[in-house]
Amino acid sequence: MRLDFDFSNKVKALPPYLFAELERIVRQKRLEGVELISLSIGDPDLPPPKAVMDALKEEVVKPENHGYSSSEGECEFRLAVSDWYKRRFNVDLDPNREVATLLGSKEGLCNIAKAFLNEGDRVLLPDPAYPVYANGATILSGGVPVHFPLREENDFLPNFEGMNIEGAKMMFVNYPNNPTGAVLTLKKLKELVDFAVENKIILCYDNAYSEIAFGNYKAPSVLQIDEARKVAIEFHSCSKTFNMTGSRIGFAVGNERLIAGLRKVKSQLDSGPPKYIQLAAVKALRMYTEENPPRFVREACQTYHRRMKILVEELNSLGLKCQMPKATFYVWAKCGASSVDFVKKILEVGVVAAPGVGFGSQGEGYIRFSATCKEEKIKEACKRLRNIL
Ligand SMILES: *Cc1c(COP(=O)(O)O)cnc(C)c1O
Repeated sequence: MRLDFDFSNKVKALPPYLFAELERIVRQKRLEGVELISLSIGDPDLPPPKAVMDALKEEVVKPENHGYSSSEGECEFRLAVSDWYKRRFNVDLDPNREVATLLGSKEGLCNIAKAFLNEGDRVLLPDPAYPVYANGATILSGGVPVHFPLREENDFLPNFEGMNIEGAKMMFVNYPNNPTGAVLTLKKLKELVDFAVENKIILCYDNAYSEIAFGNYKAPSVLQIDEARKVAIEFHSCSKTFNMTGSRIGFAVGNERLIAGLRKVKSQLDSGPPKYIQLAAVKALRMYTEENPPRFVREACQTYHRRMKILVEELNSLGLKCQMPKATFYVWAKCGASSVDFVKKILEVGVVAAPGVGFGSQGEGYIRFSATCKEEKIKEACKRLRNIL
């Protein structure tokens, strides 16, 4: 007898997986021996800082670092976070009440929704966006996604004009932005905070790319706006800044009540990242004490910047219009009608990119390239594109 257990209604409400077919083609190409160049995922190819690797080696062999941490994280880590915040954004944080330790920011983005949403609560979400806001956060918490468009003519900034925002309890905003590479100014950030305060909406600000910025651009923190402490929680990650995606460590900072709710949920779900990971992340954050930004971060940004300049120049010359972003490692290029068809076409020559529609309906007609592989590979990918476009 076969038992067909039904998925929960929340799981059934998750959208169908769009990319099964693309992944099948990727596997097929690999079997055929095509050398694939992957420009599709947001996972840095660069190594973590040496200080982090050294700390990991040292800490992982200590037996006392193998017990439970706690869902709020080690004091040492939260203190390093508040020191980093002060140095980086000139914002004071109470490490005991305004900082939460996360198993990567993705976890925090989902659990903040669990902590504050009731069935049917509406959640304002950017389109296109990191899919976690709609799926892992909103839908799995019983919330209802309400999308606001990020359009090129608005510099990919939120625009709520003509939208019914009644009953909205929470919103997600992400700058520097994945997938568009857009950034915002403090002035724009203030408008968003005012909007959230006026409408009593919890503002979840995803700042995962705050350190991946070029030239004179410095990404702000939402907490640099005084009023933000009433409504906002900001999410940070060691993943992109320190190339530690696999270590699963990040943090949330901001409004005390929001942090308390997040911690309450977490106390029933996890017991914090491994102590040795937290201690290694302390070393990463403390690099900012010696130098701000540290050489490690500056060099990573220079590397991404060089790669992206190659991509942007070549894509534009092939008629795929795109701009050089001020931050992130993503190039968001116009590719014509169907982004999935376009991705299939370039897969024929072994170049893998992410179709814009995977980030929301407003992403249709765009394609996202990640500058997370070596310059020679990017040049080779451009050459292959030139042959077929
Ligand atoms: C990569 C990324 C994160 C970070 O995820 P972690 O769980 O910290 O690894 C968060 N938000 C966005 C938009 C991202 O692209």
